[in-house]
Amino acid sequence: MRELEERILKDGRVLPGEVLKVDNFLNHQVDPDLMFSIGTAFAHAFRDAGVTKVLTVESSGIAPAVMAGLALHVPVVFARKHKSVTLIDDLYTAEVYSYTKKTSNHISIAKKFLGADDKVLLIDDFLANGQAVQGLFEICDQAKAEIAGVGIVIEKVFQTGHELVADRGVKLVSLAQITSFDGDRVHFASETTK
Ligand code: 5GP
Repeated sequence: MRELEERILKDGRVLPGEVLKVDNFLNHQVDPDLMFSIGTAFAHAFRDAGVTKVLTVESSGIAPAVMAGLALHVPVVFARKHKSVTLIDDLYTAEVYSYTKKTSNHISIAKKFLGADDKVLLIDDFLANGQAVQGLFEICDQAKAEIAGVGIVIEKVFQTGHELVADRGVKLVSLAQITSFDGDRVHFASETTK
């Protein structure tokens, strides 16, 4: 998605550890016009997939997920993060290792919001090593929900998340695919196809 790549080039900052900081349009301040375009792009990519629900993880997945849900006219559920989960009877839970925080969290959603009749579009802000998406796969498996696909705003294709989604055999749509960081420069997969 051209508009997104241009925004990353303009406002993204490369931090140590191959982390891209995009806090002025996605991770802290949110640009609603750009999010609307992102949601529309996801809805277009998955329009024939029979999606009944969009699922994401708090907090940075929420903005793009809500816009995708708006465009697809389906509800959006975000998994909540907890340090530990004790009262789990009414929850589906999974453990997720955070790429940026280097800590593990439990993520959970209330059982009443996901079930075997659902066909779920998973959305997240970044795909790095795929731990967040793996956690959402586990939650869908517990609910016996079907997975329609995975929509990612920014994928770092040089990390292992791509493989994890491919192994699961579900469709992956990433709106910006970063192939490498070179100092503070960002390279996209689209550069090689231009
Ligand atoms: P994964 O679970 O795929 O390893 O990492 C995905 C999660 O880590 C995303 O939900 C995102 O919050 C965070 N993340 C991973 N890489 C980056 C990055 O380069 N920049 C930012 N801002 N967050 C990232």
